[in-house]
Amino acid sequence: MDVRRRHAELVEAPLKPNKLHHAGKVAPPVPAAFHLTNASSVVVFFSAVYYLLSRWREKIRTGAPLHFVAPSEMVAIASLVGSFVWFFGFDFVQSLILRPSLETWTDDETEKAEEDIVVPLKPKMVEPIPEEKVIGTVNITSAEDEEIINSVVAGITPSYSLESKLGDCRRAAGIRRETLQRATGRSLEGLPLDGFDYQSILGQCCEMPVGYVQIPVGIVGPLKLDGVEYTVPMATTEGTLVASTNRGCKAIAMSGGATSVILRDGMTRAPVVRFGTVTRAADLKFFLESPANFDAISAVFNSSSRFGRLQDIKCAIAGKNLYMRFSCSTGDAMGMNMVSKGVQNVLDFLHKDFPDMEVMGISGNFCSDKKPAAVNWIEGRGKSVVCEAILKGDVVRKILKTSVEVLVELNVLKNLTGSAMAGALGGFNAHASNILTAIYIATGQDPAQNVESSHCLTMMEAVNEGQDLHVSVSMPCIEVGTVGGGTQLASQSACLNLLGVKGANKKTPGDNSRQLARIVAGSVLAGEISLMSALAAGHLVKSHMKYNRSSKDVLKVASS
Ligand code: ADP
Repeated sequence: MDVRRRHAELVEAPLKPNKLHHAGKVAPPVPAAFHLTNASSVVVFFSAVYYLLSRWREKIRTGAPLHFVAPSEMVAIASLVGSFVWFFGFDFVQSLILRPSLETWTDDETEKAEEDIVVPLKPKMVEPIPEEKVIGTVNITSAEDEEIINSVVAGITPSYSLESKLGDCRRAAGIRRETLQRATGRSLEGLPLDGFDYQSILGQCCEMPVGYVQIPVGIVGPLKLDGVEYTVPMATTEGTLVASTNRGCKAIAMSGGATSVILRDGMTRAPVVRFGTVTRAADLKFFLESPANFDAISAVFNSSSRFGRLQDIKCAIAGKNLYMRFSCSTGDAMGMNMVSKGVQNVLDFLHKDFPDMEVMGISGNFCSDKKPAAVNWIEGRGKSVVCEAILKGDVVRKILKTSVEVLVELNVLKNLTGSAMAGALGGFNAHASNILTAIYIATGQDPAQNVESSHCLTMMEAVNEGQDLHVSVSMPCIEVGTVGGGTQLASQSACLNLLGVKGANKKTPGDNSRQLARIVAGSVLAGEISLMSALAAGHLVKSHMKYNRSSKDVLKVASS
């Protein structure tokens, strides 16, 4: 958060004029006279070269000594050197002559460190450019924009510095985009530029933006979960996904709704440290795992945040290397930043008693973030949620067009046996990641965490003497937040609002993110029910041809 604030301050800080060349190397506009003299120097240079070469050839032909230099040759050499210096030293000469006047740049009284200097490129005279100068999808509105584009294309101004130099994120994105199109010769038409708040992603969500990708958001519901009805947004380009999940929601609602339980709520981070011997690594393991030390360690950990609260530390040793898996509650934040700050505090603290401890990495992959890992599947990461529903036999027949018996059998063969045959890790389900990722994108979660968040075991059993179907999803790693990261962006925030879990829960911090995790599990349950039913009834290919392919494509496929 501090970093972000600092970044925002930087953007607004104006530049002292004499720092221009250090900060940005953006040359002020070059007058026509300089272009003229610059061209003349090229002509003089090549004329002198030509004259000297022809003179020396003549001397060699006639046997005259080369070291005897005639006055005309001296003039030619002087012209050669002069024009060379003028041409290649032009930037330097220009910087001396065209040093910007104090009035050209807005000034600021505060003396800032050099790296803190930001250049708002606002020259006094902005020449409007003719309409035909509108290039590609970017409206280049001023000669100054044109100048900056040339400077970025030439590699003088780094593309990443545009936001801080211009102090206008939309303009920076437009200029970067135009630069990219010119440099690559490829059009970005179709990738929208306008209609997005570029300021909102600065220093937080995405660097060097050139536009934004549009993903349609569909809704499913009502999802009847724990006695409440939710309309769930899903951002996807996979036809049938929304329709299918919606059918699952209908089956759940018609059967009385689903129920969820949060079993555990804790984000993890596991640094790796190295010692000189195995014994020393074990000493630290025992120290960390001793209940007598927990209070002292958690006090240090918790001091990093109002919301991060240490829950436990699990250690694993590989030779003289120790992996410590810290787990903590993180309020309504997904919690990666929070847990990392707490872990850093503890590492600093441990150094006092274990000065021989060498920190090799704050993340040692025993966490384990964005990678399939048994430790997550067994221990959990984020929110561990179980969600269940009892579907009435009638609903299974009329809405899902299959039977309890067939669904139970298919679940054993596919989600349990088939996944075991495939050596699955957490993949004992039909398509949990489909639903989860679509909700993650819609609500501003980190979609890369779908790897472990989608770990899911789907169970189906006949109950009530075989009349009804008990179906459940067990998901040990749902990593979601309702504050921080992409959740604060306008579109994502609107989707969280639709679910009634936007932002921080003031009364009970953590309730919003836990509620979101329940909704994810409930929606996955709906998705599992519907896809399994489609498979059982043999509808899958038919419905995909209807919703997932335009009729044009189908014809093409058929004719080929
Ligand atoms: P993450 O750890 O998920 O990356 P951040 O640490 O970037 O999230 O964002 C969480 C920020 O939101 C912290 O600065 C925290 O103090 C603040 N915050 C405000 N209210 C809450 C809340 N209810 N739960 C968690 N964090 C909150």
